[in-house]
Amino acid sequence: MNKHWYNYGNIFKVKFRNHFCYKCGEKLMVVKHRKVVDQKSEEAKYYDFDAGGDGAIMVGPCEFIHKVFFCPKCSQNIEFITQINQEDIEIIIKKVISYFKKRNREIFISKSYETKLGEFIENNFRLNDDIILCLHISEKNKESKIYKIPIIRRKFWERPYYFDISKKKLINFIK
Ligand SMILES: [Zn+2]
Repeated sequence: MNKHWYNYGNIFKVKFRNHFCYKCGEKLMVVKHRKVVDQKSEEAKYYDFDAGGDGAIMVGPCEFIHKVFFCPKCSQNIEFITQINQEDIEIIIKKVISYFKKRNREIFISKSYETKLGEFIENNFRLNDDIILCLHISEKNKESKIYKIPIIRRKFWERPYYFDISKKKLINFIK
């Protein structure tokens, strides 16, 4: 059978950080994920069946292999990109809070997710769910604000999702 190895995500962040499941907080393991995809299946469009380089195309099913985090408590695989993005979001939130603290402003930020129709949803999304990350920003004696970031997905493979967040943009929004 055809085999395709691939890697996604920042390998340094995978290696040098401690990772705790962004859903439940359990310590994560790294496991090898294997998946056989038939070219005629519905999900084949999310996988790259190019045999590489010279325009050759694979014939028949292919086994796609890559490493992912595994949460023993949730019994779920989590893509590197998704987990690291969630860690980055937490880091940025902390930095933004301390940025304002240094300027004598006490800010609180909490997260939630909603659908495009504005319904609240748990952070357990299916392959094609269209989700918005909402950062609820509150401050004493001020009206609270919501900073919204739409979900982004990779085109191929297991379609890891992430939210494009930047410290600078968040600070400017709160200012
Ligand atoms: Zn978990």
